Amino acid sequence: MHERCSECGHKYELETGFFYGAMYASYAVTVAFSVATFVLTYLIYPASPFWIYIINILTILVVLAPLNFRLGRLVWINLFTGYDSEAIKNHQEKKKS
Ligand SMILES: [Zn+2]
Repeated sequence: MHERCSECGHKYELETGFFYGAMYASYAVTVAFSVATFVLTYLIYPASPFWIYIINILTILVVLAPLNFRLGRLVWINLFTGYDSEAIKNHQEKKKS
């Protein structure tokens, strides 16, 4: 992961160990993926045995692990930083001077 945003200069890791908290957001994403997979499996094959649900959920979680990792960090950093519409302009001006 980059230390700063190349466009606006925002520092990603606000303090040491900042992204440990992203595990909570990642857990919520995992639960959402699992429930969605369970519901889809139920709707497509309602008479499936229990192990089919488990295999489907595990497969989806492994395949979507990179997405889950990034979504967790994205949710976590957005809880603590706001949007600054002037950030890119300010960063470009600071680079020039
Ligand atoms: Zn940025």
